Amino acid sequence: MSTYIELNNNLEILKLTRIQELLPSTLDEVSKSNRSFVDILNELVRAEIDYRDERARKINITVSSFPYIKTINDFDFSYQPTINKQKILDLSTLRFMEEKTNIIFMGSPGTGKTHLATALGIEAAGQRISTYFINFAQLMEKLKNAAKENRVEQVVKHYLKYSLLIIDEIGYLPVDKDASYGFFQLIAARYENRSTILTTNQPFSKWGDVFGDVVIANAIIDRLVHHCEVIKINGMSYRIKGKSIFEEDN
Ligand code: ADP
Ligand code: MG
Repeated sequence: MSTYIELNNNLEILKLTRIQELLPSTLDEVSKSNRSFVDILNELVRAEIDYRDERARKINITVSSFPYIKTINDFDFSYQPTINKQKILDLSTLRFMEEKTNIIFMGSPGTGKTHLATALGIEAAGQRISTYFINFAQLMEKLKNAAKENRVEQVVKHYLKYSLLIIDEIGYLPVDKDASYGFFQLIAARYENRSTILTTNQPFSKWGDVFGDVVIANAIIDRLVHHCEVIKINGMSYRIKGKSIFEEDN
């Protein structure tokens, strides 16, 4: 077996995929340049590390279960002038997570709540911070079933482990009382411990209706807003951008 083939096989055994890929072009370059061996070897190792980092970043984003992949750069701030762009850029540094601050995006449908929550989540997941995106209705269904089987604590423990949890669409459907209490337990467990991002189309004054109980709703709001950035968005739905669906627009 030639040394080259043996080297290729060995790189395969060690799963040094990127180095293996770069080997032919690197060997071509070596024959033409007078760069030092250390320099070339270091460049190959660096390329392997970068490749692995990027792969880990992508895997972490995939397992976070985002509804779509959209970033802050994809967001048109000029369309939604009530949003303070600087504030969002500051949040995207993830400084808020150090202080275990929560974020609530509040506004009517189509104003970019899920987009911004997802974009911040992608920032975190991209830095290999354990992140998970879940729809509120799905979470409540899980808590409701868990309550029936006496294992709410287990579900709370599961969602507590994520450094950043995104709970999307609070308030589209009224929820079960046991699930509401389970939700309170989750928020209380994450309070001052881990950051949570929530999106909602309902002002806090309506959360009593959402959770079917004013006392539980107030207890949830109390824990959430103690350390929290509430981003209120007042504007038109991006989904109807450019469409004249109202008579008066014509
Ligand atoms: P909601 O507030 O209902 O959660 P979304 O964030 O899901 O709304 O926005 C609806 C759609 O419009 C998504 O595809 C989102 O990416 C897009 N969108 C909303 N606002 C903007 C914006 N200002 N710039 C670019 N895309 C936007
Ligand atoms: Mg949404």
